[in-house]
Amino acid sequence: MIEIDSVRKVYNEDVVAVGDVSLTIEEGDFVSVLGPSGCGKSTLLFMLGGFIEPTSGTITVNGEQVTSPDPSRGMVFQESVLFPWMTIKENITWGMKVLGVGEEEREREAEEYIEMIGLSGFEDAYPNSLSGGMKQRAAMARVLAVNPSVLLMDEPFGALDAQTREMMQHELLDIWSQTGQTCMFVTHSIDEALYLSDKIVVLSSRPSSVESIIDVSEHFE
Ligand code: ADP
Ligand code: ADP
Repeated sequence: MIEIDSVRKVYNEDVVAVGDVSLTIEEGDFVSVLGPSGCGKSTLLFMLGGFIEPTSGTITVNGEQVTSPDPSRGMVFQESVLFPWMTIKENITWGMKVLGVGEEEREREAEEYIEMIGLSGFEDAYPNSLSGGMKQRAAMARVLAVNPSVLLMDEPFGALDAQTREMMQHELLDIWSQTGQTCMFVTHSIDEALYLSDKIVVLSSRPSSVESIIDVSEHFE
């Protein structure tokens, strides 16, 4: 469960990026965050990831206050983040290696993810030789491979072509239905939010607060 309590973020003493956000997200929920450009969506997500400290208020995940990044909260950014000096497979297995997962299991998992993201044949390629969409898919796989209990995504499919985006949305829902991860997904697109989520949190423009929460869990029927 994620509890966001009266969180506020002010940049440079006068830019109120997040006004006052309070929100509870139940374990296993898939929540999209919608709102106008510049209303603080990314800032809110980075605070959940522990990358940015709130100016005031608290965030707890499964009862623990978020104070720094942690692999149990996987984060997928707008622009893919891959280590350029590692191959696609090395990138995907890196987190597992850090967490002490044995080589055999790493290989098996990597193979599964590489197939899932449609990059078979590119395991030994370096990120710079791949297209933006391919890199983004690999970045997603890299985060998913460590099986985080919370998945934070900042418009991860924004730069993908329509067909790849649809495929990734589908894969994401598939993974989510199997793992029961708590997901928070920032997007500009109402269609994407409706397709993916149980709940849509609408933020108002700056200084942002929660304008409404729309329950769309019946969208599977
Ligand atoms: P979106 O998430 O809507 O695509 P961006 O994250 O690109 O938008 O940026 C939203 C706004 O925040 C823009 O006006 C941009 O100029 C501003 N912005 C982003 N990062 C910074 C920063 N480090 N310092 C100042 N302004 C920033
Ligand atoms: P969104 O993701 O909704 O587009 P952001 O969280 O990127 O919004 O930005 C919220 C506001 O905070 C924007 O007005 C942006 O200009 C400002 N901002 C974001 N990052 C910084 C930063 N590092 N320094 C100063 N202002 C920032």
